[in-house]
Parts: sequence; C-alpha cells; structure tokens
Amino acid sequence: MGDEQLDRQDTVTAADPAHDREIENLVIVGSGPAGYTAAIYAARANLSPLLITGFQDGGIPGGQLMTTTHVENFPGFPDGILGPDLMDRCKAQALRWGTRLLEADAEAIDLSQRPFRITADGRTIAAQALILATGASANRLGLPQEERFWSRGISACAICDGATPQFRNEELAVVGGGDSACEEAVYLTKYGSHVHLIVRGDQLRASGAMADRVLANPAITVHWRSQVADASGDDQWMQGISLKDTTTGSLRELPVRGLFYAIGHTPNTRLFKDQLDLNDAGYLVTQPGRPETSCEGVYAAGDVADAEWRQGITAAGSGCQAALAAERWLSHHNLAVTVRRDNVEPQEVGEPKRTAISDEANFDPSQLWQKGGFALRKLYHDSPNPLLVVYTSPSCGPCHVLKPQLKRVLDELGGRAQGVEIDIEADQEIAVQAGVTGTPTVQLFFNKELKQQWKGVKQRSEFRLAIEALLAVPV
Ligand SMILES: Cc1cc2nc3c(=O)[nH]c(=O)nc-3n(C[C@H](O)[C@H](O)[C@H](O)COP(=O)(O)OP(=O)(O)OC[C@H]3O[C@@H](n4cnc5c(N)ncnc54)[C@H](O)[C@@H]3O)c2cc1C
Repeated sequence: MGDEQLDRQDTVTAADPAHDREIENLVIVGSGPAGYTAAIYAARANLSPLLITGFQDGGIPGGQLMTTTHVENFPGFPDGILGPDLMDRCKAQALRWGTRLLEADAEAIDLSQRPFRITADGRTIAAQALILATGASANRLGLPQEERFWSRGISACAICDGATPQFRNEELAVVGGGDSACEEAVYLTKYGSHVHLIVRGDQLRASGAMADRVLANPAITVHWRSQVADASGDDQWMQGISLKDTTTGSLRELPVRGLFYAIGHTPNTRLFKDQLDLNDAGYLVTQPGRPETSCEGVYAAGDVADAEWRQGITAAGSGCQAALAAERWLSHHNLAVTVRRDNVEPQEVGEPKRTAISDEANFDPSQLWQKGGFALRKLYHDSPNPLLVVYTSPSCGPCHVLKPQLKRVLDELGGRAQGVEIDIEADQEIAVQAGVTGTPTVQLFFNKELKQQWKGVKQRSEFRLAIEALLAVPV
C-alpha cells in the first residue's frame, strides 16, 4: 500500500474515558506494542481497562514503532508493514474490544496505598492493578551547541526529519553503532548526498545483516573510533560537526548539514523510582520470565523491563503475559468488577480511509480537512477562516499522532476553522517557502498572515486556544 499513511483514526472512536469507574480494575500506562497488547487481552476479559497513552513524556502515543518505517519482522505481515500502521491496527483492536483511552501522560504514580493512585490529565485515578508499559526514550549527546542547532540540523529521528528540504543532497551524519543507527544511515541515503556513520568503537553492534548492508553501501562512510565533540554553524543552520578520535584525542571537522542521534534509549522508569525494584541501568526488575514487579498487583511489560531483547514482538508477548497475570490476580482477590457485553461480537473496524489530494475537480471550499498544494493556495487566498497547515512526511510517526488531534480540533470548532495537510516530499517547494525544518510542523494562518507556528506534537488545547483567540478578535 505504499508509504502513504492511512487515516485509521478517522474510522475508530475511543470509548469515552469520562465513563470512569470510581476504582478502575486495571490501568495500563503506555501505548506501545506492550500496552496495546495488554489492553486487547484485558478488554477481551471484560475488565474494561483504562489505557493512559502517554503524550510527550517518554515518547509519543504508539511508542517507538511510530518512529520507524518498515517493520519486516512482526509475524502476520509477510510483506512488512509501516510502524505507524502497525500501531494503528493495535490501537483499533484494543478499542474494538472496549479499551478506554486517556490521551495524556501519567504525571505521578503512588503505589504506597491500595487502590493505587495515578495522576494524569489533572485528575487522580484509583486502580486495583497496574500494568507499566512505558518503554524507553531516545538518548541525547548533550553537546555544547545541541540546543542551538536542535531542529536546525540536529534531530533524534531520521525517519521523521530526513525528508526535510534542508537535508536534500547534503552530507549528513548519524551517531551510533546499533540497529537503529544502521537503519537510519541507510534510510538517509535516500535524501542526503552522502551519509557518515560515527561509531565510538571499532565495530558495529547491529545485527549481522544490518551491518553488512551499511558496510556494502558506497553512499555511507563509517568513521570508527570517533565521537562527536560539538556542532557549529550560522544563525540559520548547522554547517558541520567536530569529531574527536577516541584513541588519540585529536579533533577534525566534518562539514555535514544534518546530525541524527541513534545512541540508544533510557527506560522510562522515573515515575516508579524508589517505589519498585530497578536494576543498575534503571530497568524495572520482574520475577524471571514473568511480569510481576516487586509490588503485588503491579506488572511490567515491554522495553521498560527488557534491556536485552527490545523488539515489538517481545513487547507484545510480555503485554499478553502481564494482562493474563493481572486478570488472575484480580479474580483471585475478588477485586475485578467486570463489564457485561451487549454485543458479544463487537463491530469490525474495517479498512482505514485515505484523504484524497485536492485538485480543481474535487476541491470543496467548505471542507474541514484537505490535502495538497492546490487546497492550500485556494484556502489561503479565499477562506475567511483561520487555516491550520500541517506539514508532514510519509513515514513520520509523530505526524500520524498529530493529524487526528488537529482534525478533532476542527470538528469541535464546527467549521469556524479549516485545515490542510502538506506532504513535504510531494510539495517540496511549498515546504522550502514555508521555512519548514522538520515534521510535523503546524502553521496557523488568518487573513493571509502567519499567526503562530508549532514544531512537534502538542496538546490539542494549544491549537484550539490559538484559533479561538483569533476568532474572538473583531476583524
Ligand atoms: C527506530 C526503531 C526501529 C525499530 N524497528 C523495529 C522493528 O523493525 N521490529 C521490532 O520488532 N522492533 C523494532 N524496534 C523496537 C521496538 O520499537 C520496541 O522494542 C517496542 O516498541 C517496545 O515496545 P513497548 O510497548 O515496550 O514500548 P514503547 O514502544 O517504547 O512505548 C512506550 C509507551 O509508553 C508511553 N509512556 C512513556 N512514559 C509515559 C508516561 N509517563 N505516561 C503515559 N505513557 C507513557 C509512551 O508514550 C509510549 O506510548 C525499533 C525501535 C526503534 C527506535
């Protein structure tokens, strides 16, 4: 089905988390493969689980697979599947069976009392049992000039930002020696004139097949025993990095316009520190081969407790274990209040819809959401409404998360604002003119003026408030 993202969220509505129970049977924290699999099992066991998806703290809804392109090793997809599409399917399956979603970060977790207490989205949720599936987050190098060039040359997601016009036909660098670094280096050869892979040691830690692909690729140069010391450039963009030889300590300059981090992950265990047993690397400790943590009724699933295997399928498998263990524990202690299903066989989810690119024939000036340069030009010039323009790239997972949020804002505003999606690969010139340096970028226009710009995934309320402020001002 090509690289185009599908808009599955259009076809699925989350069960309303406002139909909350006083005490939840089971709260699952995290929406990667571990969290969604746990939710599917718990929902099918009629536990009506509440899943806190996460938003910005420790990743994005859907987890790490939202930041990759083709997943070729998840069983059931013989031709592979795009990471965001796989996660959309997991989400749709969890919703279909009655999982309730709360699209927010868990801000605090208190395991000192029962039921446990979770603070999220400005409220406190009580839960008899918990599954922690908060995964892991990308590490940063902490270079002296990192903040200055962040999103102006430095990125932690080649898959999200590689298609940005500023990287086209330029020399680029990737730091790291594992699977992610190799995958990103190969991916960036699609866009850059040459890719430099900066490796601290003298071998790659990636799987044999992945390492072979990198070493055989003439568009990639591996710099062994090298460390990035800093980045340099002008006010607009990064122009180069300095490399330190790890054996001699000598420095040399490498003129690259892009620097992509692929230097591993840190487990997202900040919320449970001092409450649950963690190992020296900060991962949750469970009973060997089992999901039980050091606190009864609290289970771990996925990368948050797995420094070794860290795969989509192992995360999904442990999510299944955690849900089954939680269900047994709840029924053993007679704590579960199960729901009765009116519909034994819930309605099928169906195939996702695509948004057609607007042209002269199908452009509709009153439509809330359209796609492509034609719609942008027409609405920019003719629409009396505030206009949200979201710049995306085909394999950008965060774009996938943001689009349904923006569509919801427009729905809620009932036609008083409109939206256009611009794929920066298909409409490169527009992206250059708009000064887009990464995806997702959102620009808000009103009366042909740029009023506000956001980079990355933001809360729905930010967009809504900005539009409402424009609508409140008399023209
Ligand atoms: C670039 C890349 C490519 C990969 N390719 C593959 C591949 O091809 N095949 C494969 O099998 N694996 C692949 N992996 C590994 C795979 O993505 C992970 O092993 C898997 O996603 C782990 O799943 P998880 O559910 O444990 O955690 P994650 O996917 O990390 O998800 C964690 C979730 O927890 C949420 N969260 C964190 N903190 C909070 C909080 N405070 N409150 C609420 N929620 C929170 C996050 O938002 C996120 O939704 C890849 C990883 C990367 C980075």
